[in-house]
Amino acid sequence: MVGFVVSDRWDSAAAPGADDPVGQCVYGSRLLGAEPTLVLHGGGNTSVKTTTSDVFGDAVEVLHVKGSGWDLASIEREGFTALRLDRLLRLLRLERLADSRMMNELRAARLDTSAPDPSVESLLHALLPYPAVQHSHADALIALTNQPDGAALVRKVLGDDVVIVPYVMPGFDLARLCATTVAARLGPGTLGLVLLNHGLFTFGTSTEEAYRRHVELIDRVERFLEPFRPQWTEADRPAVEPATIAALRKEISDLAGRPMVVRRHDDARVRGFLARPELSQRGPLTPDHVIRTKRVPLLGRDVGGYAREYRRYFGEHQDRRGVPLTMLDPAPRVLLDPAYGMLTAGPRAADADIAADIYAHTIDVIATAESLGTYRALDPADLFDVEYWELEQAKLGRAGTPAPFAGEVALVTGAASGIGRACAEALRAKGAAVIGLDLRQPGPGTADYLPVQVDVTDRPAVGDAVRAGVERFGGVDLVVAAAGIFPQTQPLGDFDPQAWRRAMAVNAESVAYLFRAVHPLLALAPRGGRVVVIASRNVTAPGPGAVTYSASKAALTQIARVAALEWAGDGIRVNVVHPDAVFDTGLWTEDLLRDRAARYGLSVAEYKRRNLLGVEITSRQVGALVAALCSDAFGATTGAQVPVDGGNERVI
Ligand code: ZN
Repeated sequence: MVGFVVSDRWDSAAAPGADDPVGQCVYGSRLLGAEPTLVLHGGGNTSVKTTTSDVFGDAVEVLHVKGSGWDLASIEREGFTALRLDRLLRLLRLERLADSRMMNELRAARLDTSAPDPSVESLLHALLPYPAVQHSHADALIALTNQPDGAALVRKVLGDDVVIVPYVMPGFDLARLCATTVAARLGPGTLGLVLLNHGLFTFGTSTEEAYRRHVELIDRVERFLEPFRPQWTEADRPAVEPATIAALRKEISDLAGRPMVVRRHDDARVRGFLARPELSQRGPLTPDHVIRTKRVPLLGRDVGGYAREYRRYFGEHQDRRGVPLTMLDPAPRVLLDPAYGMLTAGPRAADADIAADIYAHTIDVIATAESLGTYRALDPADLFDVEYWELEQAKLGRAGTPAPFAGEVALVTGAASGIGRACAEALRAKGAAVIGLDLRQPGPGTADYLPVQVDVTDRPAVGDAVRAGVERFGGVDLVVAAAGIFPQTQPLGDFDPQAWRRAMAVNAESVAYLFRAVHPLLALAPRGGRVVVIASRNVTAPGPGAVTYSASKAALTQIARVAALEWAGDGIRVNVVHPDAVFDTGLWTEDLLRDRAARYGLSVAEYKRRNLLGVEITSRQVGALVAALCSDAFGATTGAQVPVDGGNERVI
């Protein structure tokens, strides 16, 4: 386990009282959600029943149940949907109901039509004759139930305090089974339901009671499992050539039909599990995980073989429901390999992270279950039913167009401020994960942003940054070279060789080395590599006193043009933008602005708009142009130099 940390976190001073049952349910839901060994990424659900009055002033019994799309850890009051209880109980008298029609009926039972879609497990909450209900997919319980003698083990540990329910697919069938065979078995001493291969329901007169029972039952299971929990010991983490990860990512992306983010995880747990990786082939902890991890990970690197096996699995089960199904992409989401450790994949960085979180818990539970007895997952057919659930299939049609750079990875230098930061933000806003390099700390990291503090002229450090970026996101598809310095203005008579060498090193040479490092990765970009360098209007129209800057940016422009020639055969496009008078950058201080304006006899405001169009040019505009150059609109353009200067008669 990730530690037996389930403890009673209820704080009576902080929790809403009995006079606010919905508030108490929100509070108790967050406590449940705060514990990843109980619920992960949207798993689990909770409810409370109250009486309210409708628009006619009539008293109505309602079920407030978790809305889909809300995470228990962060749920708010508006995350709960109020449903008319009498309608739900009437539905349970039907013998059969397709889950899509059940969802329609649940939506129709809402008191407020703007409330979120209610949980697919709402009917089960409705039927349990207790005011408050809490449901989790607790790791510890799964280690017990996913065994050939799972029911006997549950009985041994939890006795008659729980009613045991065999596995049935969540949705109407599960609720109906509970209505017909389980409800009658609930006694005054019943604290909860254990659903084999699924999770735990507890209930009580209040959320406080339901929560305390939840913690108590899981605590008993955890104590029982204590001797069986795995101990992972630190192991060596072999270095991996970034291009080999990028090559695997390309194969995975090609199979998925879209660029995928791939993240490497190589810790003590993964290394320990790699001693018996074949255990992973038995299947996931609970069926809802298949949406994130697929039924099994890929062992080794034969991505094509995995896809063939996936197609076979689809072919074998596709007629189970007698309706045509759309096959999901056959690309693996989890890969276990002695060299890499674990790689996880997803259409966005956050999805790859979720797959990794789920699999870390999966490893712990499988190891515990094997130590206790024999880990056994559901049959492939049962898992197929959830993977190809009509509710999931319906979502496929509703999914909108993905963001233009979804699943792609950008490396941006100079990302801490000015044009570099604007480029990083523009690409992230359009779906890319970004590796941001800068001499200064380039902001806080997030799921889709890896900041790396580095001097771009420090070649080994840049190599390390590229390696870290590939381990984090799987490759590099887009490169924006925006880091630059603006040496002090000097006439040629005062030429300073030291400043020249420094400008050449930062503005030009560092980019040539960066190109050398990223070229193999760009060549493996699923949608083709794209590079944009931030040069300067000074290249086409130099100014007096700026020989060092102008020459360094001219050198940079030539580097980009040669790259465009050399890399076209690899499908990599390289373009140049020439900004001018972008004053919201780190290069421009107030003093420098005043000095320049005075030199031309202008106010600062006039100086900023000193171009043909009379417009002020911002970093944001440059960022938007760079994103556009990386987009399909410029799919047939390479080696171009695009001004972003408001119009300059010397350039035109
Ligand atoms: Zn569940």
